[in-house]
Amino acid sequence: MDAVDKRVRAFVRVKPTADFAQDVIKFGPDNKSIDIYIKKDAKKGVVNNKQTDWSFRLDGVLHNTSQELAYETVAKKLVSEALIGYNGTIMCYGQTGAGKTYTMTGATAEYKHRGIIPRAIQQVFKATAQSVDPFVTVRISYLEIYNETLFDLLATVTSNGTSDVPMAVVDCPQGVYVKGLSIHSVSHEEDALNLLFEAGETNRVIAEHTLNKNSSRSHCIFTIYIESRFRVFSDVKCVNSKINLIDLAGSERLSKTGSEGQVLKEATYINKSLSFLEQIIVALADPKRDHIPFRQSKLTHVLKDSLGGNCNTVLVANICGEAVHVEETLSSLRFATRMKWITTEPVINETYDREGTVKALEKEIILLKQELAMHDSLGNRSLVTYDPLTDIQIAEIKSQVHRYLKGGIDEIDIVNVRQVQEVFKQFKLIVSQQEHEVEARLRSKYALIDKNDFAAVAAVRKAGVVDVDGHLVQEEDRRDFGTRTAPFASRRGGKKKSRRSNEQPKKERIGSSLSRRDLDGFLPSKSQVIIPTKDLDMKEGARNQDTADIDAEVSKPAPVEDSQQPSSPPSKPLAFEQFKEECGSEINRIFKENKSILLARKKRSSTVAQRINFIKHEMEGIKKALEAQKQERWQQGEYVDDKGQIIIDEKEFLLIMKLKDLKEEYRSGYAELQDLKAEIQYCQHLVDQCRNKLISEFEIWYSESFLIPKDVQEALKPGGNIRPGMIPINRVTCLEEDEQERFERMQETTLPACPASLSFYKAKMKTDQKHTYARTMSSLEQMRKKPGLVAAAGKNKPLSFLHV
Ligand code: ADP
Ligand code: MG
Repeated sequence: MDAVDKRVRAFVRVKPTADFAQDVIKFGPDNKSIDIYIKKDAKKGVVNNKQTDWSFRLDGVLHNTSQELAYETVAKKLVSEALIGYNGTIMCYGQTGAGKTYTMTGATAEYKHRGIIPRAIQQVFKATAQSVDPFVTVRISYLEIYNETLFDLLATVTSNGTSDVPMAVVDCPQGVYVKGLSIHSVSHEEDALNLLFEAGETNRVIAEHTLNKNSSRSHCIFTIYIESRFRVFSDVKCVNSKINLIDLAGSERLSKTGSEGQVLKEATYINKSLSFLEQIIVALADPKRDHIPFRQSKLTHVLKDSLGGNCNTVLVANICGEAVHVEETLSSLRFATRMKWITTEPVINETYDREGTVKALEKEIILLKQELAMHDSLGNRSLVTYDPLTDIQIAEIKSQVHRYLKGGIDEIDIVNVRQVQEVFKQFKLIVSQQEHEVEARLRSKYALIDKNDFAAVAAVRKAGVVDVDGHLVQEEDRRDFGTRTAPFASRRGGKKKSRRSNEQPKKERIGSSLSRRDLDGFLPSKSQVIIPTKDLDMKEGARNQDTADIDAEVSKPAPVEDSQQPSSPPSKPLAFEQFKEECGSEINRIFKENKSILLARKKRSSTVAQRINFIKHEMEGIKKALEAQKQERWQQGEYVDDKGQIIIDEKEFLLIMKLKDLKEEYRSGYAELQDLKAEIQYCQHLVDQCRNKLISEFEIWYSESFLIPKDVQEALKPGGNIRPGMIPINRVTCLEEDEQERFERMQETTLPACPASLSFYKAKMKTDQKHTYARTMSSLEQMRKKPGLVAAAGKNKPLSFLHV
């Protein structure tokens, strides 16, 4: 929309007359401007101010114009925009007898003299008849405002001329409406015209008037309401608009009418409401005004949402062409010009009909169900329904899912979407139930600490309760069923003893002692790392003694006592020390060597960097001294030899030589530093690699030394094809774990009901364990028999993957 369209449009229509004042009223060649010339002495006393010429620029001048052309110019666009949702207002303003009613309603006698209202009605119905898509309803109302009282000009059509509802102008978020005003649905052009002519015109308050006996002192507002409903998929979009066609009362001054008594009172009212209208128009044209006093008269209140704003507004100023009316003509043109300054920002009034949408959706669902039913009958699936599942059906699905999980059935047949959704729901339910059960079981057995609490985790690690990855190292109840605990002290103190010997070291409680000391203050805490609770149940008194013992143990390894069997594996830090002395000694040596090389390179690098910095500093000093020399030379005058070269003194020469040497030194230092950096990087990489290897070898060694059951270790004795690291530790340790787990589960579920069965189940479990062991051994035997399966490797052969 361009700037012109964003303002109220104003036209002037001149009533044809044989006595047209050619000298007074002149039209511009573009038919948009109108000039008024008044001779000072032409009419004494009427115009006595200094200005005699006026020029008005409007959107169009309708002079000797047919009703049809007037409609095309003034209304057609506005009505067509109303059909797509923009509100529109057309107002006729002017003195009585100037042709307002003629313009708005027209002469009822002849078709071609019909005015804007019947033509607008025609355009609306023509458009609705042509449009295929929207469902359009047209309604009309006809309101008269006379002496600040509202009259329903169509009330007699439905009632007997009297309306019980007191009419009032009401503001609401959707706009202004007149409460009690009858609004009539019209399905044909003719219906609407009937209402306009028969009811409207006959009911209008008309007073005898000296100027024109048919003129009136009331304002009449004919409104066409258009509602279009579109189906956009399942939504129902509603576009609402209204066209206000307003025939204002005469704007002439009182003195001229010669009215008296009742008529004089009416005239006063007319002027008052029109002057309020003028005030409103001045206010609306001022962008700084935020309050517009619409409510000060019925007319302005009713027109609140019809003047500018989001509405297309058009004004027609009806004027008389005779010189005698020049004063009224001037006043009407001024009004029209002011109207032009009101800005408009028309918007489409569209809403979504929720009720309509729901109804449309319901209808669509019914249709879809019918269609599905048809497909089902065609596909021989007549039992399928699309209604929500019943409780019985849900119970059936639940039992199906349980049977499926237990392996009772291989698959669940898909019946329909609702059933699939229910199946998933049941799965979700089972998963969440299991999660809760597992958590409850762990909580009843273990104390939990926060894995993000680094201090606590470090303490636990130090205590050997969990390893570097946070995995549990010790299990309190291993002894109860344990055949897995390997001798610890047999591999301590650097003595080369067989790892799988049955020699018993002295009883070790180092790991748990550390845990007691270091965990103090961290527990209980939020969960994730699991610690056996038994370790925490130590008495305070025993604690200090244990701590002292550990320190002694760590600093000085205890002597090996072959006759003793450890009841639990050693803590990892201690085991690590042992590992570094035994199997891991070679890799540890390489690791240390790499580290010392790295350290030496770093030291050298730091020395060189310091030296470079010193040189740089010195160079800057010499540069400054040289600059000073140069300045001095300039000030004292320069000596030049026969070749034109500047001669410098000895001091300056020495400084230059020194600078040259320093530069050289700087360059070589810098190069060395670069080389050192590369070397450091390389060494660092070696050290990291070594460290990782050391740790991973240790992990394997630790697992195989302390976590693999004794009998399995037998199978790994030297000479066999199985070397450390070959069997995944989880595969070995899980053999008994399963039995144990099963027993625990059984304890939880069966035993509380029947405690007497404990012995029976314990015995059964031991038998099961034996069978499992036998199976494992035979499979290991088979693996060993297969030639070439695994390359033989000396178990204690040092690892030499890295050479520095
Ligand atoms: P108003 O409503 O402003 O008081 P009317 O519309 O009643 O004035 O006009 C007064 C008379 O002038 C009417 O008889 C009307 O038919 C006639 N008249 C007004 N304008 C025109 C016009 N443009 N062409 C022909 N007749 C007109
Ligand atoms: Mg009139």
